[in-house]
Amino acid sequence: MSTLPARDNAPGLPGLPIIELDSSLPIVGNGETVATVEKSKSRRLPEWLRRPIPSSGGMGFTKSLVADLGLETICESAKCPNRTECWTRRTATFMILGDTCTRPCGFCSVKRGHPEPLALDEPERLAEACARLGLRHVVITSVTRDDLPDGGAEHFRQCILAVRARTGATIEVLTPDFEGNTEAIDIVLAAEPEVFNHNLETVARLQQYVRRKSQYAVSLAVLDHAKKSHPRVKTKSGLMLGLGETTGEILETLADLRSIGVDFLTLGQYLQPSGRHLAVDRYLPPEEFDELGRMARSMGFLEVASAPFVRSSYHADEMASHAIEA
Ligand code: SF4
Repeated sequence: MSTLPARDNAPGLPGLPIIELDSSLPIVGNGETVATVEKSKSRRLPEWLRRPIPSSGGMGFTKSLVADLGLETICESAKCPNRTECWTRRTATFMILGDTCTRPCGFCSVKRGHPEPLALDEPERLAEACARLGLRHVVITSVTRDDLPDGGAEHFRQCILAVRARTGATIEVLTPDFEGNTEAIDIVLAAEPEVFNHNLETVARLQQYVRRKSQYAVSLAVLDHAKKSHPRVKTKSGLMLGLGETTGEILETLADLRSIGVDFLTLGQYLQPSGRHLAVDRYLPPEEFDELGRMARSMGFLEVASAPFVRSSYHADEMASHAIEA
């Protein structure tokens, strides 16, 4: 596993406490079963990340639908802590292009390896799922497919068109970087998604530690190209916090995103999916997320979601609806 690169100043905001990892804290939450959690003695959560083990009773409709239609979701693949809430609300983030990723990011629990060939009926199955869920805003993401000449861009386009034709929903794509291939990005944008999201995930210093084979500058260039080539599209990006970044580095990153006109921002706490993944460096208290959110808004982001459990697609419909017509 990679070594955390050294930082040269304090991690937190002045006036707010730095929370040290406390091995005496009980382990609860993260949307997992008690049995799973009890096995993992290394993942100890502060009080604000402990939630009651949620009842999964309301998830049945979404869960059956996803299974029946043979679809993948990032909600399940990434072990998202919000799955019970979102699936009970009958919303999910669909992951297209298979279940196997070609990149070895240290934070991510999506399966990695050699992907299967594309499922050509996936756009129709996806559209069917969105129609049955009654979604008015659909978020589509994917594994990274560096094995495909276009990185899966044409398949993205087909999925957008199929979902829109079937549902009339607004569409948000959360894409890989397509290795900076602007022709591939243009293929996706030709289908005119309302929101184009590409996550930086972390600050510049930690890129190679957190998402090996991806580059900060390439990700910025992807977002820059999307905005310049399609000015009406809302661009969006997000960071996981608690991986070892400093507040100064976070603010520099937000400034970089604003300098290329990124509209929407998400900031959430990184949670280690398993003992094989990158360790949490620090748990930021909710007040620190609030303060970072305030700072981000003052920098000009149209919409900001900043809280420990925020993920890229968490309440994405609300974020999009506030600003798509703006
Ligand atoms: S926050 Fe996003 S990834 Fe997580 S459960 Fe909700 S829709 Fe799925």
